[in-house]
Amino acid sequence: MSAAALRVAPLGRFDHDDDHPHEECGVVGAHVRSDALDYDLAGILQVGLFALQHRGQESCGICVASPDQIRIEKDMGLVAEVFTEARLDLLRFEDARTGIGHTRYSTTGASLRFNAQPLTVRSNKGLLALAHNGNFTNARAIRDAMLEDGAVFQTTNDSEVMINLVARYAHLSLEDATARVMSELEGGFAVVLMDRRKVIGLRDRHGVRPLVIGELPDGAGHVFASEPSALILMGARFVRDVRPGELVVADDDGLHARQVLEGVPTPCAFEWIYFARGDGALDGADVHAARLRMGEVLAAEAPVDADVVVGVPESGLAAALGFARASGIPFDLGLQKSPYAGRTFIAPNPRLRDQKVRLKLAPTGAVRGKRVVLVDDSIVRGTTSGRIVALLREAGAREVHFRVSSPPIAYPCYYGIDTAARQELAAATMTVAEIGRRIGADSLAFISEEGLARAIGIGRTCLACFNGRYPAGHPGDDAEKEGLEETGEARAALVRAATAR
Ligand code: SF4
Repeated sequence: MSAAALRVAPLGRFDHDDDHPHEECGVVGAHVRSDALDYDLAGILQVGLFALQHRGQESCGICVASPDQIRIEKDMGLVAEVFTEARLDLLRFEDARTGIGHTRYSTTGASLRFNAQPLTVRSNKGLLALAHNGNFTNARAIRDAMLEDGAVFQTTNDSEVMINLVARYAHLSLEDATARVMSELEGGFAVVLMDRRKVIGLRDRHGVRPLVIGELPDGAGHVFASEPSALILMGARFVRDVRPGELVVADDDGLHARQVLEGVPTPCAFEWIYFARGDGALDGADVHAARLRMGEVLAAEAPVDADVVVGVPESGLAAALGFARASGIPFDLGLQKSPYAGRTFIAPNPRLRDQKVRLKLAPTGAVRGKRVVLVDDSIVRGTTSGRIVALLREAGAREVHFRVSSPPIAYPCYYGIDTAARQELAAATMTVAEIGRRIGADSLAFISEEGLARAIGIGRTCLACFNGRYPAGHPGDDAEKEGLEETGEARAALVRAATAR
């Protein structure tokens, strides 16, 4: 988790050139049995992180341990850049048995290598390493109390609060101490934690952030990952999701699970809308199928007379296909995405943002002279949406009807997703009709909360960024106000930095 996240309210790290909410982290973990020889533990963790790259592009790290030694490598950059073969070789050593990895969201802000994960500490329980996805909404209060108590922190990262708390229960085993700490922390989080002999995976009591378990071939060990797509590359068979409020230990004796906390499961709806890769299922619901159903629901809830359905690549394509199938309007590839327009290709200068959308997306002849249904997964600030509508009109679209496979985002996320500050969210200050006019669409409609729940099909999910009802706690009005003020400062600092370039 980020330094900014410790402040619990979003701090304006939102990527203005990519107007979507952003997952902030992906985690992996692996335990290889001591009698399973020649297992490339570092290699397993590297490919797992590679599969989770979409969950974070700022920094990544891997920690590997044997009974005799521990090594950690972490740095700013993409997994493929940081973990070259030479660097991976540093993590390959005899008897390596436990390991965890982490990949973190890229921002336009300053380089924060010291906050990269995994975090490691030497404690009364020996070496501990931790990697974390999500937010502890009470981390700041706990940290302040610990500081008053004389604790020392090396990072501004809220994960350090958890690892410190675990270490403080000196009289308890690692497993019992971790279970105790789970009940003290609030928020939405999935964590992998290791010592030299075991790896622990856990989710908060509401299961807001995902974590799945896999098994290596021939009973060689077990792995954890934020998404099932990582298991495939790690060479593991999907076993099951870690349950909300559950703590699962992987060690030489196999898997041991403990239901530490009870709660109403409310996993993050945005995992199905946008974050998770389409080639897997979370908490029993297939991600791609859910996106198709979102399009079908949208077609039923907000029908429109049109000639062609176009999805904003890549995230809007599945819902567009569902819309086309349900409406009978042909689907076509009306927008082409350049695979080479990377996120950091152009400095975040406002004058260049129009150009950046053009570099990323180009309309095809499929929209010329047509009444277009344009489907995207979300509208956060609306800036990019307006530019895409303008691109389609320039390319000859006669009408552009915008359909969105998430409800309007009107509240910030406190559980590890960067959604921009509340005052910047289009739906926080404008009606749907006003947003439609702002982005220049002929009509605009969002899927309903009920329709989204039907499309995902698992009962309750977290919908807090749409309705403001936070299932796993809220840092409180004062913290939010403070965070919003800081957001302004952070934003001003970013603008100054961009202008200075
Ligand atoms: S507030 Fe929104 S983005 Fe955050 S966990 Fe809930 S549904 Fe997901």
